[in-house]
Amino acid sequence: MRTKILVTGGAGYIGSHAVVELQQAGYQPVIVDNFSNSEESALAGIESILGAKVPTYRIDCADAEALRGVFRAEPDVAGVIHFAAYKAVGESVQKPLAYFQNNVGSLLALLAVMPEFGVESLAFSSSCTVYGIPDALPVTEATPTKPASSPYGRTKQMCEDIVHDVAAAPGNRVHTILLRYFNPIGAHESAKIGELPLGVPNNLVPFITQTAAGLREKLTIFGNDYDTPDGTNIRDYIHVVDLAKAHVTAVRRLLERKASDVVETFNVGTGHGNTVLEVVQTFERVSGQKLNYDIGPRRAGDVPAIYADATKAEQVLGFKTETSLADSLASSWKWQQTLKQM
Ligand code: UDP
Repeated sequence: MRTKILVTGGAGYIGSHAVVELQQAGYQPVIVDNFSNSEESALAGIESILGAKVPTYRIDCADAEALRGVFRAEPDVAGVIHFAAYKAVGESVQKPLAYFQNNVGSLLALLAVMPEFGVESLAFSSSCTVYGIPDALPVTEATPTKPASSPYGRTKQMCEDIVHDVAAAPGNRVHTILLRYFNPIGAHESAKIGELPLGVPNNLVPFITQTAAGLREKLTIFGNDYDTPDGTNIRDYIHVVDLAKAHVTAVRRLLERKASDVVETFNVGTGHGNTVLEVVQTFERVSGQKLNYDIGPRRAGDVPAIYADATKAEQVLGFKTETSLADSLASSWKWQQTLKQM
């Protein structure tokens, strides 16, 4: 029988890709999602790729009693990947309470309920936002965290702290891998699942593809006076399928009890930084589209430059990204064109 893995937020952008990779790696994913920021259409996309339905529970993960119901219905669950969270930096400034309630509340519920059902393996979606504005690049897992620039970032820091405190408590049996993502982009090669931003996208790549598709008039680049080679921000853009595969690797390590510590932390990035202008130019090249853009003021809260030192994930997890920036952007463009026809 396949090992069952509960995937909270499994209908979301990264979660849906992880569900596909889990199933293809021989696990049986079980989705938990309240569809507050995801679409039922993601389930159809997953089903079409896998040729099978994935069991799905429509519940709020912060609701401990509802979670218990899922664990009762799925007694063979061996581990959890916890994606379910709000993720928009700007929105978190407007609605901090919602972010703390949802992002912290769902982790607390999971950590309380998992041991009741003997589930002892957890992979958690953290973020490179925990590093704040780093003093040196690239950032390693040992780079000190800095005060978060938004309530969203703070929820990720708080969740990491909670995981460490719970792990250190007497009798704890839950082992956790914290995965600190850099900037996920792209879509599944089938173009059956991908990012579905609601309303005006906050993130760079969906904004680029929507502009190229004629849905937005132009992209505004937030500042070109940073201390970087072309003056625009530097980020580490990782293909979402590569990122999904990192979760499969982490789950395997947890289930095989190979972790060297009760909590382990890994950067999940490519190890390369690209400026916003490089992303725009690469997109233009792979899509053959001329992008309408201008340069605007800096965006509040933006970190000037950050990219991962990906050595630890490679050495310990055996994880290495496979997809180039160009191929990642090509997959985003293919997905955008598919969306137009939906
Ligand atoms: N960015 C931009 N224009 C946009 C959206 C984003 O210039 O409309 C820049 C942003 O300033 C940052 C990079 O693109 O340097 C990535 O931003 P995103 O919001 O995608 O991810 P973040 O790194 O902020 O989590």
